[in-house]
Amino acid sequence: MWEDNVRRVVPYTPGEQPKIQNLIKLNTNENPYPPSPKVYEALKNFDAGVLKKYPDPTVSMLAGAIAKAYSRDISETFVGVGSDDVLAMAFLTFFNSDKPILFPDITYSFYDVWAELFKIPYKRIPLNEDFTINKEDYFVENGGIVLANPNAPTGVELPYNEVEEIIAKNHDSVVIVDEAYIDFGGRSVIDLIDKYDNLLIVRTYSKSRAAAGLRVGYAFSNKKMISYLQDVKYSFNSYTMNTPSIVLGTAAVEDKAYFEEIKDKVIKTREWTKEELKKLDFSFADSHTNFIFAKYNGNMKRDDIVKALRDRSILVRSFNGERVKDYIRISIGTDEEMKIVIDALKEILK
Ligand SMILES: *Cc1c(COP(=O)(O)O)cnc(C)c1O
Repeated sequence: MWEDNVRRVVPYTPGEQPKIQNLIKLNTNENPYPPSPKVYEALKNFDAGVLKKYPDPTVSMLAGAIAKAYSRDISETFVGVGSDDVLAMAFLTFFNSDKPILFPDITYSFYDVWAELFKIPYKRIPLNEDFTINKEDYFVENGGIVLANPNAPTGVELPYNEVEEIIAKNHDSVVIVDEAYIDFGGRSVIDLIDKYDNLLIVRTYSKSRAAAGLRVGYAFSNKKMISYLQDVKYSFNSYTMNTPSIVLGTAAVEDKAYFEEIKDKVIKTREWTKEELKKLDFSFADSHTNFIFAKYNGNMKRDDIVKALRDRSILVRSFNGERVKDYIRISIGTDEEMKIVIDALKEILK
C-alpha cells in the first residue's frame, strides 16, 4: 500500500484570490497601492533575452540592494521566494531538536503547517485574553521560537524590550521574529542582531512594498546563521529566485521615497478606520499593521456581516478557531475603499 507511506499534510489555506473584477479586496493584507514607478520602469526595460540563462544562484544584486537599504552586510542577508519560502527554509534549518518549538495559539497559521510537514514538535502558547503575549511563557525549555511581530491576525505588537528579553533568555535556541508588518508603525529588533547570535528577522515585499506578486522575502541575521540557511537552501533548490523578480525586486527596494509615502498613507487610513469602527461598536486590540482584527459588539453574527459585505463586493477574512470566531480581519485599503466599507457597515448594521 503506497498510501501508507505518503507524507500527508493539511495544507495552509491562503486567502481567496477571486477572479471577479471590481471587488474591494481586503482579505489578504496586500497593499492597495501599486508597486513603485521604478518597478514599472525596470519591467519596461527588462530584456527577455537574459531568460535563456539560469539566474544568479546567490541573488547578489537583490540581496546587495536589500542589505544596503537596511545598512547590513550582504553576508547577513538572505533572500527567498516570498517570506513563506524564507520561513520554511528557516524552520528546516534551525528547528531540528526533539524539544518543541513555541509559538502563540493565535498567529500566522502557516507555522504549524511547516512544523507538521517537517515533523518538528511544537507547542502553541495561549495569548492573553487581550491577545497580548505573556513573555514569561517563553522562558521555558524549547527547540526554537517563532513570533510574528506585530502578530497576525491580531495586529498586536510585542514591545521591543519584551522581544529582547525573549531573545536573551533563549540563547540556546533560535528565535525567529517574523516582521511581515513591522513597517506600518512597529519597532524592529533589527539592531539586536549585533547583540545576540540567536536572532533571525524575516521580512517581506508583499505588504509594505506593494509587491505580493513578485514573491520576494528576506531575512537578516549574523553571518553564521545566514550561511547555515544558505546551505539548506542550496541543498533544496539553488535557483529559487527568477530573474525578473531579482531585477524588479532591486528596483523596488531602491525607491525609499515611494515606500515611505505609501506606508504613511496606509497608516493614516488605518487610524481613520479605527475611529469609524469604534463608532460602529466594533472593538479591537490596537493594530500596528495594515489590517484591523475587529469584533462587533452588537447582535449581528460575524458570518452574517462577512456575507453582507461580500454581497456588496467587499471581501474580508475570517478564521474559525474558538478564540477568533467572532472576529473579522479587514485589510486597510485606500481612503476611498475604506469609506465604502464603513458606509456599507453602517447600512448592514442599522
Ligand atoms: C503575509 C505574511 C507572510 C508571507 O508573506 P509572503 O512574503 O507573501 O510569503 C509571512 N508571515 C506573516 C505573518 C504574514 O502575514
